[in-house]
Amino acid sequence: MTENTAAPFFNVVTVAVPGPFLFGLDYLLPEDEQCQESWLGRRVKVPLRNREIISIVIAENYSQEISKLKPVIEIVDKSQSILSMADLRLLNWAAQYYHEPIGEVVLAALPKRIRQGEALTPTLIQRWQLTDLGLNADAEIPKRASAQVRLHQALRADYQSEKEGLSAAQCKEHAGNWRSFISDWQEKQWVRVAEHGCLERKSLAPAQRKNLNTEQQIAVDNFVEKKDKFACFLLQGVTGSGKTEVYLAMIEKVLAEGKQALVLVPEIGLTPQMVRRFEAYLQKPVVALHSGLNDSERHCAWYSMREGLASVILGTRSAVFTSCKNLGVCIIDEEHDLSYKQQDGFRYSARDLLIQRAYQQNIPIVLGSATPSLESFHNAKQQRFHWLKLQQRAAGAKLPEIKLLDIRGSKIHEGVSAQLRAAMTKHLDAGNQVLLFLNRRGFAPVLMCHECGWQMACPSCDANMTFHQTRNGGFLQCHHCDHQEPEPQGCPNCGSEEALLRIGQGTERLEETIAEWFPEKTVLRIDRDSTRLKGAMEALTKQAEQGEADILLGTQMLAKGHHFPNVTLVGLLDIDQGLFSIDYRGTERLAQLILQVAGRAGRAEKAGEVWIQTHHPDHPLLNLLLKEGYQAFAEQALQERKLVKLPPFSYQMLVRAEAYEAMDAVNFLESLKLGLDAEKLTMPGGEKMQILGPVSAPMLKRQGRFRYQLLLNSAQRNVLHQLMNGFFPTMLKHPLARKVRWSLDVDPQEMM
Ligand code: ADP
Ligand code: ZN
Ligand code: ZN
Repeated sequence: MTENTAAPFFNVVTVAVPGPFLFGLDYLLPEDEQCQESWLGRRVKVPLRNREIISIVIAENYSQEISKLKPVIEIVDKSQSILSMADLRLLNWAAQYYHEPIGEVVLAALPKRIRQGEALTPTLIQRWQLTDLGLNADAEIPKRASAQVRLHQALRADYQSEKEGLSAAQCKEHAGNWRSFISDWQEKQWVRVAEHGCLERKSLAPAQRKNLNTEQQIAVDNFVEKKDKFACFLLQGVTGSGKTEVYLAMIEKVLAEGKQALVLVPEIGLTPQMVRRFEAYLQKPVVALHSGLNDSERHCAWYSMREGLASVILGTRSAVFTSCKNLGVCIIDEEHDLSYKQQDGFRYSARDLLIQRAYQQNIPIVLGSATPSLESFHNAKQQRFHWLKLQQRAAGAKLPEIKLLDIRGSKIHEGVSAQLRAAMTKHLDAGNQVLLFLNRRGFAPVLMCHECGWQMACPSCDANMTFHQTRNGGFLQCHHCDHQEPEPQGCPNCGSEEALLRIGQGTERLEETIAEWFPEKTVLRIDRDSTRLKGAMEALTKQAEQGEADILLGTQMLAKGHHFPNVTLVGLLDIDQGLFSIDYRGTERLAQLILQVAGRAGRAEKAGEVWIQTHHPDHPLLNLLLKEGYQAFAEQALQERKLVKLPPFSYQMLVRAEAYEAMDAVNFLESLKLGLDAEKLTMPGGEKMQILGPVSAPMLKRQGRFRYQLLLNSAQRNVLHQLMNGFFPTMLKHPLARKVRWSLDVDPQEMM
């Protein structure tokens, strides 16, 4: 054999181009690049339709039939690959499992800057900081220059706390057209610009760690014993049991071996305070990755983990894909949280992908929660996961007492019962904080005419418009499509000139009521509207934690992970809707929500109590939960799922379709069903699979489209996936597929 034939020789590469190409597209390598080197994981520029796009090489081979192939335009990464073999393996698995075109999967995994073809090494990040001289410059800023006033306030807040400076994106957020005056400020030496890499920051806070209690120590010891290969741990710890302290102790052991840690947290659980807590404990810089970052910050975070410059990344859902040089442990906090499931486009579950990633890389993974998902609970029961339990609150705090407040026939004023109001007075008089939970933002969910009963509905959805109050009047907003309208003067239906009635309670209305009742107390509302601006959530929670507000009220944003040491009373105003949800996961979600909200009470020295207002005080699952706890609830709920063969005792896929003409969506799904029914009979085990529907989605019309779904259910996961493997290409090419918007949701979490 000559040397030539023995050497691997590639002339064709498969590229993960965006679009409906499940496995990517083949391109011809330029002749001078056809060498023995591997191009796997590198970026190339290729033609696609009339465009040139940049994406990653996911396979390479030799072919003689090259006449139809288009050539690669340019190899972007000449010297090294962007994605490692381990990265590619995970992405390929994800593409297959979720039936998502590989190009879309790769897009989700790479920072935008890298997708756009920029250099691997990020540029320095600029940050603007106030100087000593600039501290009192507000005296010279005219009051009507409101953008300048706002930016100065933001810069001063930074000067007085972190002194990290504000990024360009943050400045813009605060002051819009800030570039128009910032150079003037620089000339006056009110501000200076600092340039640094994303890891450089001030010195770390002093080390802070607690002595682990016995339960915590047992959990860590168990982990240490098994940490050298794949193992999946479920850390089930009641709220306030010190799960974070356990994660940190585990991470430290892994870091000591020179390895890295990847930690996922829910969308709103990731705060700068949390990052600093990690840094203070580990005495190492920690990178954060979340939706609030701009492109260069994301690039930087990704790069630092990839190069091994940072040892720990704390990130939300999409951080699951971060390339890591030497990953040693994966952790996912509040693993039951819905924000780990991407609900549009590439519908992956970050929890399931993280488990797969740990498995592929043969490293341990820890799932933490006070209220584990029934899936994880089931896995722990089946001993597929190692079960670690923390049943006590750390540092001697007691779990709060939870009481059901029967409000049938009792006097309710603005959604708050007399008993709850009295309890609020008692706790406030004792100098403590009170937290009220109401999962409905806005002022009133319904606007109705007193004369004819007409209600203001969204023109494009099957939903009422919510009334929002502002300083100068109000407006209506649809919470499903964001459509807005001014408040109508009088009734558009019967012409009555009387003002429309505002019916029902939202957080804005509750805020108004509470402020009237307790005029000398400060009220803080935390919901999506009050936290819209960047940094607002952080500022509000900080105020709450430091006890600057007496009464905290808000939606489930308030429920998650926060540690408000002074809260001793928690009131849940309206949970009844959740008891009768049409989604079979409704009660599981409600139980998790109740315990998470309740978990905000009595987290420090002072004992806490929780009151739940309900019209259904005899509801069996609710009583089980409150009397015997989550464990008993979960056992019971699992029994029920088992009886009716729902997940985790079966596996599901949901095909959703929506169209402006309802029949287009129905016909599309009917036709798929025919095809699937025929196909499944050709497969062993296929006859036991159910294909249900098409049925209309719980909300039939949304944003002007009619929505239907087809549910696939099977006791065997692999049968379901095999069926879809065979059938999916047909779906992609279906003649009606152009007329409808459709998607496939593997392991759907919501039936919406
Ligand atoms: P969880 O995430 O389980 O709800 P956290 O990790 O936030 O709980 O811990 C709750 C509180 O208990 C925090 O203030 C934490 O500092 C404290 N804590 C945790 N472990 C210990 C310990 N072993 N000794 C004393 N305090 C602890
Ligand atoms: Zn009317
Ligand atoms: Zn709408």
